[in-house]
Amino acid sequence: MVLDVIKMGNPILREVCQAIPVIDITNDEVQTFIDDLIDTMREKNGAGIAASQVGQLQRIFVMECDHNPRYPDRTDFALTVAINPTIEEFGEAMVDSWEGCLSIPGLRGMLPRSAKVELSAYDRDGNQFVRTIEGFEAVVAQHELDHLNGVLFVDRMKDMKYLTFQDEYVKYWLNE
Ligand SMILES: [Zn+2]
Repeated sequence: MVLDVIKMGNPILREVCQAIPVIDITNDEVQTFIDDLIDTMREKNGAGIAASQVGQLQRIFVMECDHNPRYPDRTDFALTVAINPTIEEFGEAMVDSWEGCLSIPGLRGMLPRSAKVELSAYDRDGNQFVRTIEGFEAVVAQHELDHLNGVLFVDRMKDMKYLTFQDEYVKYWLNE
């Protein structure tokens, strides 16, 4: 089921989400919610979505990039469901990341992100995994984890001249 996505200004987006007891991950309620998050992400062409964006303060995000029309220039990556995720950053390497957000529709902004991270989380079967990821997938994981801590991409911007509307991003910045 596609859920409503809340937008910047809604105080829920600024709250810190709560960990899910591992024993509850396989419950019907949590499994249905995960399915709903995936449906919502795909319907709205998100590369990821966090539980707080649909008003649930739980530490879950999902991410996937499969020929996404909102991110035509990015590398595809497979679906990941991350429950109680943590991220460790690798080294000093940073990338200039142009990001959008389903909760900040119509805008893009550029900010620094770690180029490569180690993502640890539980999957939807309740199994813990650790994966090293890089490129767009690493950026999306950092963006979604921020949501679980009440942080939005605009908070991490260093220069507001790189906050643009979508059309202007495509016109002036996409092929830079
Ligand atoms: Zn977002």
